[in-house]
Amino acid sequence: MNQPLILTINIGAIRRISLNRPQARNAQNQQLLDELSAAFEAAKNDDSVRVVILAGEGDHFSAGHDLKEAQEKRANFTVEQRWAYEELRYFDYSMQIWDFPKPTIAQVQGACVAGGFMIANMCDLIVAADDAFFSDPVSQTLATASVEVLIHPWVMGLRKAKEFLYTGMRMTAADAKEIGMVNRVVARQDLETATMELAERIAQAAPFGLKVTKKSLNRSMDVQGLREALSAHFDTHQLSHMTEEFKSIRDKGLSNTIKSSVNKG
Ligand code: ZN
Repeated sequence: MNQPLILTINIGAIRRISLNRPQARNAQNQQLLDELSAAFEAAKNDDSVRVVILAGEGDHFSAGHDLKEAQEKRANFTVEQRWAYEELRYFDYSMQIWDFPKPTIAQVQGACVAGGFMIANMCDLIVAADDAFFSDPVSQTLATASVEVLIHPWVMGLRKAKEFLYTGMRMTAADAKEIGMVNRVVARQDLETATMELAERIAQAAPFGLKVTKKSLNRSMDVQGLREALSAHFDTHQLSHMTEEFKSIRDKGLSNTIKSSVNKG
């Protein structure tokens, strides 16, 4: 029996769902993602839960997808196999969080990178510690079309998203707040308390009112084409997994490439 890679606790009407692989900077392997999806499904079906906090144990929210596991198990996937794997675990699981019918808050410290950036930005609100940093370096490091869910222009603005993806830069929590991607930045030691206070405030509102408010807010993005754009990008991303550029990087070792990029700067 594997150790659970997701922790869930209830604090009143708040459910805290936490990535629990701190020794691997909460890198998302298959087990963690499957457990994360199951945790959101359980929170959805539990009427006592009004607000969900998505957090990460340890010093980092998440360094992204587990590329060591990807290299070992999926390096030689066919188009069909990779499509099936990434559609379910990266795209559908992400959209499950986006479409989650109750308010969600990402609680972010340390690294929030690539696949970590993707799931944090599926949440309605983000509270970040002052040591948090955001990056999606995979266009630089893996030669793929970003990550599977191109939420970036929707949460950062087009100009900043281009700079962010073209350069693979790190964005500080303060800069992320300035562009409106993050709601609040607090000292690292206050992160959990500040996120809980915000969640408790939201949980005072009537749940059905919140549910339909969220639905309308998300629909205002859908009428601008969010869902179609994300869906189209997923297809393009799959194509970028089959290029000569990607294959040459894969053959050198995915995890080595990303490790040097996460550690740099
Ligand atoms: Zn991919």
